[in-house]
Amino acid sequence: MIKTSEALLLRSINYGEADKILVLLTEKFGKISGIAKGARKSLRRFGGRLEPFVHFRLRFRKKPGLNLIEDCEVIEVFSTLRESVELFSWGSFILETTDALFPEDEPNKEAFSLLIRTLQTLDKGISPIHTALEFQLRSLSLAGYEPSFEVCVICKERIGDTLFSIKKGGVVCAECAKTKGIDLVSTSYSFIKGCRNIIKGVRSECSEPTFEDVKLLKRFTEYHTEKELKSSKFLEEVVS
Ligand SMILES: [Zn+2]
Repeated sequence: MIKTSEALLLRSINYGEADKILVLLTEKFGKISGIAKGARKSLRRFGGRLEPFVHFRLRFRKKPGLNLIEDCEVIEVFSTLRESVELFSWGSFILETTDALFPEDEPNKEAFSLLIRTLQTLDKGISPIHTALEFQLRSLSLAGYEPSFEVCVICKERIGDTLFSIKKGGVVCAECAKTKGIDLVSTSYSFIKGCRNIIKGVRSECSEPTFEDVKLLKRFTEYHTEKELKSSKFLEEVVS
């Protein structure tokens, strides 16, 4: 039976002479993987559309293991993301983070619309660091890994303002910071407050987040998903 859904490509590898194995985030079915037979040859069915940063409508056959990709039809192309090296790097980081956070075959419409919105904003070149940080926080929440920015993750009573523990999953108060053996990163009050506002959906009035802030949440994502985000190395070269 043929299924259809809006989708975005997260990653792909060439397979055999002309096929491609794809990992996609779909609106209706969550993350799926599939094989597109003849994808590197069949211009009619796939020509240039099964690419990163193309929002398309996908038709596929549900199969155990790899789904069979039938064809796709373009809805929107994020062309600036495909042309600017800097934006391409940010976009790749966003796709890789999505891939790491969401398991296959678990529908998550909000994750899909978050990804579309984020790529649309990035495509306009609007403050990539802020866009990426907001995406990281929202996608961590949607995937069930939301860091705590209000109350100390150890005593659960006092407020934490600058110290953050990746392993414990959030801010640590000054008292608990004295406890032995806790991994602590010293951040800024502006970062913590900015994150609180983003999570609450309040428009942030604090200073712009920095690349260091994005890297902290990247390490948080890597630790809790046990996956390395390789695109961030390239991003580091482009941004710095
Ligand atoms: Zn505490």
